[in-house]
Amino acid sequence: MLDTRSNRPDLPAEIARRRTFAIISHPDAGKTTLTEKFLLYGGAIQMAGQVRAKGEARRTRSDFMKMEQDRGISVSASAMSFDFGQFRFNLVDTPGHSDFSEDTYRTLTAVDAAVMVIDGAKGVESQTQKLFEVCRMRDLPILTFCNKMDRESRDTFEIIDEIQENLAIDVTPASWPIGMGRDFLGCYDLLRDRLELMDRADRNKVAESIAIEGLDDPRLAEHVPAAMLAQLREEIEMARELLPALDPQAVMDGTMTPIWFGSAINSFGVKELMDGIGSYGPEPQPQSASPRQIAPDETKVAGFVFKVQANMDPKHRDRVAFLRLASGHFRRGMKLTHVRTKKPMAVSNPVLFLASDRELAEEAWAGDIIGIPNHGQLRIGDTLTEGEALKVTGIPSFAPELLQGVRSGDPMKTKHLEKALMQFAEEGAAKVFKPMIGSGFIVGVVGALQFEVLASRIELEYGLPVRFEPSQFTSARWVTGPKTAVEKFADVNKGHIAYDNDGDVVYMTRLQWDIDRIERDYPELSLSATKEMM
Ligand code: GDP
Repeated sequence: MLDTRSNRPDLPAEIARRRTFAIISHPDAGKTTLTEKFLLYGGAIQMAGQVRAKGEARRTRSDFMKMEQDRGISVSASAMSFDFGQFRFNLVDTPGHSDFSEDTYRTLTAVDAAVMVIDGAKGVESQTQKLFEVCRMRDLPILTFCNKMDRESRDTFEIIDEIQENLAIDVTPASWPIGMGRDFLGCYDLLRDRLELMDRADRNKVAESIAIEGLDDPRLAEHVPAAMLAQLREEIEMARELLPALDPQAVMDGTMTPIWFGSAINSFGVKELMDGIGSYGPEPQPQSASPRQIAPDETKVAGFVFKVQANMDPKHRDRVAFLRLASGHFRRGMKLTHVRTKKPMAVSNPVLFLASDRELAEEAWAGDIIGIPNHGQLRIGDTLTEGEALKVTGIPSFAPELLQGVRSGDPMKTKHLEKALMQFAEEGAAKVFKPMIGSGFIVGVVGALQFEVLASRIELEYGLPVRFEPSQFTSARWVTGPKTAVEKFADVNKGHIAYDNDGDVVYMTRLQWDIDRIERDYPELSLSATKEMM
């Protein structure tokens, strides 16, 4: 029996009902379609089709940046809130392109669970696998949706085996598909002993659900042809024997994933998945922080910035910092302490991302995501509290894998370019390094596409044509150790040294051999490929 009550009756009801999650998938598996259906069931929009911007342009309303729309790819992670039953869902959108993996990683620090969407014909694809690994690093609970069952798909056991083997996670079926492709009838809901039949005629209609008293119920035969019913009984018997039963604690620990089968485009299986998110979601979790972790039910508000988006309104050079509330009950106008600078900050116009529009947030609870417009004070990794000096931990910055020099087309505008680059660095869109000797900047990114996006944004937002050119370096490492040792090291390696936008020392090279040698020759120093956002 599915328990739809709150999992944590000891939490304040408003917090216990929150489910903050992201969808991970390979492009084309159906993330956008599923998001639309979530919003449809969430009552956020009238018709699911409204989310999809004109025709084949593939994005949801979450991508409200005009420039993004022009560019045709989603580079933003935004949040959407909607109610489903007694639950409040906060869906955080992860950027789809593999080049933005760092952004995606940070987005996943702001959620309590992930929904993994796979295509029933394709199984676990490369991007799914990568994103899954990121979830695993954080032991995030994962719920799986096997999509496109209305098309020829793989054998159900084969799909489950592939997930178990490739991702090393136990899979437990929450539903079982009946037929596939053209013969796909629907699913048997193993958690509630119901028959869910798919209505092919109306794609926006909630599927018909028929209560059944177990697999021997004679009513099954009224809806499922004899041959398919025999196969269903046989498969479920096998599944119950061979596959682990649902263990909510294992789901919570991220060692087991329940799988639902469905067809997002036909609105089928979506509601059952949403019920699953409600039941196993889970509610907002404690947040790791220094010097102590933050519990969601603490009465004082604390939150952290996991994403900064600049120039959402090109007319004003404003930025929106996305804050995940880790604890407490936030009310508009509250004065919070910006822990990094120890300065007070009145949060007077926070934005809540309702599916239909941006809206002023009057209040928010632990688990919610609010947008805070600001002029650059808020950076990724920043913590806001009601006064206590807490610092949320575990939000990393990765060493870029690609480095290029950048030059302004107009040499008179170097200062202008520096300002633009610093903005992108603070937004987390790129790493910017100022070499110790020589002029110009070196920009580091994780994927090549980011150079193009940067060039177009610098031109659009700052009116500056820029040129990226090959750099002599291919790797960058943060140098840490005793201050005098770092300075001395920098001094003898001037040609390889640069400063990042926080002023931290970075060593650049094109040879792994150099990095190994330095680690040998300077035992008091460490060269690191990641840095905690400060
Ligand atoms: P995304 O790239 O993961 O966001 O994928 P989309 O949601 O844009 O879906 C990719 C393509 O698959 C689109 O053409 C969808 O119409 C189609 N699609 C999505 N869900 C289903 C489904 O359940 N069945 C079928 N047959 N097609 C689907």
